[in-house]
Amino acid sequence: MKTATRLVHFDPAPKDPFRPMATPIYQTATFEQEHADSFGEYDYSRSGNPTRRVLEDHMAELEGGSRSFAFSSGMTAIATVTRLLKAGDEIVADWDLYGGASRLFDRVVRRAGVTVRLVDGTDIEAVREAMRPATRMLYVESPTNPLLRVLDLQALASVAQDRGVMFCVDSSAMSPYLQNPLALGADIVIHSGTKLLCGHSDVMAGIVVVKDEALAKEVYFLQNAEGTALGPMDCFLLLRGLKTLKLRIDAQQTNAQRIAEHLQQNYPHFEVAYPGLPDHPAHAVQSRQATGAGVLLTFRAGSPEAAKQIAEGLDLFKIAVSFGSVNSSISIPYAMSHASVPTEQRAQRGIPEDLLRISCGIEDADDLIADLTTQLERLRS
Ligand SMILES: *Cc1c(COP(=O)(O)O)cnc(C)c1O
Repeated sequence: MKTATRLVHFDPAPKDPFRPMATPIYQTATFEQEHADSFGEYDYSRSGNPTRRVLEDHMAELEGGSRSFAFSSGMTAIATVTRLLKAGDEIVADWDLYGGASRLFDRVVRRAGVTVRLVDGTDIEAVREAMRPATRMLYVESPTNPLLRVLDLQALASVAQDRGVMFCVDSSAMSPYLQNPLALGADIVIHSGTKLLCGHSDVMAGIVVVKDEALAKEVYFLQNAEGTALGPMDCFLLLRGLKTLKLRIDAQQTNAQRIAEHLQQNYPHFEVAYPGLPDHPAHAVQSRQATGAGVLLTFRAGSPEAAKQIAEGLDLFKIAVSFGSVNSSISIPYAMSHASVPTEQRAQRGIPEDLLRISCGIEDADDLIADLTTQLERLRS
């Protein structure tokens, strides 16, 4: 079955005698037990909850994993994965990470005695050379954000496999509709459910999907031991969001493509970047490993002041961090989502101060283009 079908075709309420079409919200902390000396399937919601289980099974199926786990945010999902390592272990990561992941690696993971070494994940030989005996995990995002670099996941997976290293991909920018890293050789997939999976800017959530049963047991152990799981109401909202994932992304991507083409044709000096443009350096790799280019595009305003003026002058694009919502948004990554990256690293990482990032929503493309045009022409005059 194709993803469009699989997104809506699943058992929303296993074992429920009333056969509801939507998953019931089991808003309960604890479950009555029949016997005093043995537990039923559910006993306490930190350890397991039927609403969460439906979401976790659904995400595991969509990503082609053995199991998945739902967390209170994308950051708890990432933090949990780093806890699979112990003091003395090392993570090799691509340098272009989500700002929150950079902060976690730099200021939290290091405290546990785990070293994170940053490499250029687009340089496969450099990644191979960066692997040391202590390296336990290769960690990347693709496409990266906000620079929209695309990493060759299959090539990286084979490097990780050669070295017996776990390969973890944060696929938040793609969702299971556009990219399935496990099928490309990854061991772990992470999603910030707050973004495309939810799609309506009303839930914070994180997902970890794993291929291997033994790894699943470890992630489950950590989820229960640390109490990081997603609450039942938020699981319900994420399940509802997933049902329209294909429709939303199709509409958002069409808008992204049209806006990128429009900006490129009419404002060539803006250095528009979108992996869906044939001249984007990552276009070929992206087309090979994903079924779409996503909802994010960037362009350079010329100066930080111009970037600020454009962002603040727009009407339909709300100034907001995050992405993937049905509403279009715009941000200045240097000053917003990546402000948590130390200043000297921000410069090193080449995030231009005048870079604007757009997350396309489902509005009418002509309206979005008209809004942008009004602002850009005002700047020109
Ligand atoms: C937003 C984001 C995260 C963090 O997720 P939260 O749900 O905000 O905690 C992690 N990775 C990527 C790529 C993101 O965009």
